[in-house]
Amino acid sequence: MKTIILAEPQLSSSTLNQGTSAAISMAKSLGGENITVVYIGDSSIDLPVELTNNQDISGIDALDISKYQDKITAEPLAEWLAKNYDDAANFIAPSTSFAKDICPRLAALWNVDALTDVVAMVDSQTFIRPIYAGNAWQTLTYSGPKRIFTIRTAPFLSNKDAITDKTKDIPIKWFNAKDVLSANWPSCISSTNKDDNQVIDLTQASTVVSGGRGVGGVDGFKLIEDLASVLGAAVGASRAVVDNGDVPNDYQVGQTGKIVAPDLYIAIGISGAIQHIAGIKDSKVIAAINNDEQAPIFDVADIGYVGDFSAAVPELIDKIKDIKSK
Ligand code: FAD
Repeated sequence: MKTIILAEPQLSSSTLNQGTSAAISMAKSLGGENITVVYIGDSSIDLPVELTNNQDISGIDALDISKYQDKITAEPLAEWLAKNYDDAANFIAPSTSFAKDICPRLAALWNVDALTDVVAMVDSQTFIRPIYAGNAWQTLTYSGPKRIFTIRTAPFLSNKDAITDKTKDIPIKWFNAKDVLSANWPSCISSTNKDDNQVIDLTQASTVVSGGRGVGGVDGFKLIEDLASVLGAAVGASRAVVDNGDVPNDYQVGQTGKIVAPDLYIAIGISGAIQHIAGIKDSKVIAAINNDEQAPIFDVADIGYVGDFSAAVPELIDKIKDIKSK
């Protein structure tokens, strides 16, 4: 039974994206013996040791896109994946914007269902996924011969034992994007502007500090960034803050933003609307600062502080700095 993992594209780092590690873990749980990772990156950068030393995988197909990033749109990539891996029984990718663009197209090309946002496996044919913005769980049985999954990272924590000190003799096959991607697709990416303020990737961060409407705008949000900075955390925001134009779109956490699963999520001046909670449910610890003790965020928070953020956050920053200096 052949299983294909679609890795998150990586052009600058040789540390494997956590979502990709989680997808490998899920493949292993599915009983996959023949697991191939489709790695999308730059051939001049070393492949992550989490792949080359991973005893769970049997092959790496690496696509060098370093010179063709403008062509890496979902349409030609899905077409190539559909053609190249038609013999796969399972296709697994982390639930990221990238994979969510590819997997439905692949499902259409293969004429199969895509099981999205899977959070748990009951057995090799039964899976659980959130529906209605995470307010209900759906149990699905899918026994078709070919299956496509996108999975939430946190529940499928990677099998660290599978990564050893020794390089496994895994066959690595490099493909050149120019050779495999059809040049005839009408769309191409003319530019990608990375937000230089967001140093830490929200979806990968172990700590996330998010601000909501309650921080009162750009000046209040500066305190959120200061707290994130002393904690070495990524910065997130509720949709209210994004819609107000106070921070860029890619800060948005929630149903229509990013799904995060850090060890610690700190929500400041955020009421806890269901659409926001949908994006933070998998966090290990949720802490909230809100001046309204009835705010719904306290229903999901493990730690809560009722009070004004403008007094609490500077105090917190000072305390953290103090602890760090000792
Ligand atoms: P509010 O709900 O206005 O809450 C502000 C909070 O700040 C209040 O609880 C208040 O008590 C507190 N506060 C005020 N002053 C202070 C102070 N001085 N100190 C401490 N606390 C204070 N939202 C998302 O976040 N992400 C999404 O992905 C998302 N997707 C959506 C999709 C759809 C289809 C829809 C309809 C909505 C979506 N929303 C999303 C919007 C969501 O419903 C809420 O409107 C939004 O999350 C509210 O943001 P907020 O908590 O910052 O603001």
